[in-house]
Amino acid sequence: MGEETDAVFEWESEADALAEMYDDAAICEAARQDKCDEIAASKALYALADKAGVGQLINCPYCNAKFEKKSYQQKFCGNKGQHNCKDKYWNLVDTRRRHRAQFFN
Ligand SMILES: [Zn+2]
Repeated sequence: MGEETDAVFEWESEADALAEMYDDAAICEAARQDKCDEIAASKALYALADKAGVGQLINCPYCNAKFEKKSYQQKFCGNKGQHNCKDKYWNLVDTRRRHRAQFFN
């Protein structure tokens, strides 16, 4: 758990965080403008994944891949290695939250 938090705070800026996530610094600035919509969509998928029963087909809140929910707490297509959508999702959501906090203060 502490590892995830450290990783977030090691990023020097939100832009770096986004570049890390998307592996493409060039689309970073443009993508930032659309993050609100993307995060709203991701959160909607997360809520659906949360409500779905075991054995139902759901969409991964991060990458939108369709998969079968195998346990009651599963909400992402994967949570390790290259398919660590769980970490990516929370990084995405947390990044925006910090950005909004700066924006409104
Ligand atoms: Zn996924």
